[in-house]
Amino acid sequence: MSNLTERYHETISRIAAAERATGRAPGAVTLVAVTKTWPAGVVLDAYAAGMRHFGENRPEELAEKRAAVEAVLGPDSGITWHLIGPLQSRKASLAAAHADIFHALDRLKIARRLSAQLAELGRTLPVLLEVNVSGEASKSGFPADRWETDAAQQAALREAAATIAALPRIQLQGLMTMAPWDAPAGEIQAVFRRTHALADWLQAAVPHLALPWLSMGMTDDFELAIAAGATHVRVGRAIFGSRT
Ligand SMILES: *Cc1c(COP(=O)(O)O)cnc(C)c1O
Repeated sequence: MSNLTERYHETISRIAAAERATGRAPGAVTLVAVTKTWPAGVVLDAYAAGMRHFGENRPEELAEKRAAVEAVLGPDSGITWHLIGPLQSRKASLAAAHADIFHALDRLKIARRLSAQLAELGRTLPVLLEVNVSGEASKSGFPADRWETDAAQQAALREAAATIAALPRIQLQGLMTMAPWDAPAGEIQAVFRRTHALADWLQAAVPHLALPWLSMGMTDDFELAIAAGATHVRVGRAIFGSRT
């Protein structure tokens, strides 16, 4: 077995073990293999090893890599391309044209722009709202560090979710968050649990809203995220090694 195949198998067995250990159904968690900075050839190797969900954090890189991979595998390879990084509004058309799922919707302006572009292209796009639960200034996402107690934050989140859910061509499916950097496990786990609770609260607060997806957990913390209810983990280094 190649190194890549071995690391992939180790990662999926860690995911399966975390599902079992925390009473999640087998297969409840989708592994998004994060290929940012790696060339299309690495995606082809990962595909041969069995991976089908790929994550990129920049829309140009996603569009280029997708084209290169489809030139080899064709358009019906069964790959789902996840855009996991935040989007600038002038890049919305790239995301609308090439992403299959967008994890990092962090502004209404982007949502409106995406909705209009998707209508022109005749596409629909499942999206997740990025929420900044840890409160770190370096993180993007709708402010949610005091969502349990801050009425203004609650109102803004409710309003954002309701507005985005009502936009044509965009399918709001859940929330995405990033753990605090370099924090103790207990603090990281608390952020994941609070994000899960926020999804439950929003579903109850906004009529007809369903938020079944929770995108959280990366190489250093995906088991904690699975324990807190993640449905999508975004893992790069554990599979592909360090990005240089
Ligand atoms: C790079 C990246 C990841 C993957 O990080 P690893 O530490 O390599 O697992 C996950 N999510 C986002 C948004 C990223 O930009």
